Amino acid sequence: MERNIMVYIETVDNSPVVVSLEAIALAKKLSKENNKKVIAVLVGENLDDVAKKCFEYGADEVLYLEENKKELEAIGNALIVAKEKYNPSIIFLGSTLNGKDLANMVASELKVPTSVDVVAVKYENDKYFMTLPMYGGNILKEVTFEGDKTLVVAVRSGACKKEVFEGASGEVIKEKVAEKNFFTKIAEIVQEISESVNLEEAEIIVSGGRGMGSKENFELVKQLADVCGGVVGATRPATEDEWIPRSHQVGQSGKIVAPKLYIACGISGATQHISGIMGSDYIVAINKDEDAPIFDVADIGIVGNVMDIIPLMIEEIKKVKA
Ligand SMILES: Cc1cc2nc3c(=O)[nH]c(=O)nc-3n(C[C@H](O)[C@H](O)[C@H](O)COP(=O)(O)OP(=O)(O)OC[C@H]3O[C@@H](n4cnc5c(N)ncnc54)[C@H](O)[C@@H]3O)c2cc1C
Repeated sequence: MERNIMVYIETVDNSPVVVSLEAIALAKKLSKENNKKVIAVLVGENLDDVAKKCFEYGADEVLYLEENKKELEAIGNALIVAKEKYNPSIIFLGSTLNGKDLANMVASELKVPTSVDVVAVKYENDKYFMTLPMYGGNILKEVTFEGDKTLVVAVRSGACKKEVFEGASGEVIKEKVAEKNFFTKIAEIVQEISESVNLEEAEIIVSGGRGMGSKENFELVKQLADVCGGVVGATRPATEDEWIPRSHQVGQSGKIVAPKLYIACGISGATQHISGIMGSDYIVAINKDEDAPIFDVADIGIVGNVMDIIPLMIEEIKKVKA
């Protein structure tokens, strides 16, 4: 039997999360190399528009499992049903909080191997090779999988760039998941009060590092992000010094990002930071040290003091926008 690749499409408010669309692109790349089909799996209700989007992002087929329960257990159960029926070689999920829980839940139920936080996948000589961070992101390890078991793999955002196939369409297979009782029940969904930041989906990120010098100076990074319509990122020292919450940290032990524009202010360019920004289309770096390693990966390098350069940039952007 032909073994295709499945991608679970996580949705928030009936929209697919970006990392799921990136996972379709990754599956598409692997499927082209191996002549397989990419089946996007939707679980929930009112997802017809999402099904259309899946084709535009590269799915060959959509399996839409209608399920009115929102508990992870119910979604995991639907994915198990899908696996039993279609026996894919691999099930991809986005490595979100829910995606990681689901990957482990589904894999343990099916007694198959799993990996989460995967940053790269390749397929050679009938084997899958997964790259994933270990020891708190200190090293990247490649893990090899061979054999017939379905693999359940949660990929990090930025592992593959999403691709758009305008006007693409295909077959949607709709099925109802059989009624089942679960241990968990969502009593209430409460809006998170703490600050949240969506670096993974941002198109413009302005990040500040230790070179900003102080919490007060870091405000300039926020102002530049503001005028650019971007999101604020930071290096680990900037978050450790509490200039900005930890949720803004970019890098190996922070968020892996892939914006169209990444502006690095007072950032040296340590490997642990660079590994998180390599998916960026265009990198601009400001650093007073012309030998800073960040200039090796930057498309444009500005040698100078952030305290002089950033206000000038803000002023010029404001003029252009006026
Ligand atoms: C296991 C592990 C995981 C890690 N994970 C991460 C991670 O996820 N993300 C991360 O960022 N780091 C991470 N790190 C830390 C990483 O190794 C570096 O220490 C960190 O990225 C350096 O941050 P920085 O560039 O802000 O500071 P520095 O390396 O101190 O660089 C500051 C830069 O600012 C420049 N500068 C200073 N003053 C000015 C000025 N006035 N104008 C212009 N330029 C100026 C300096 O020339 C210098 O290049 C990790 C480390 C380990 C061990």
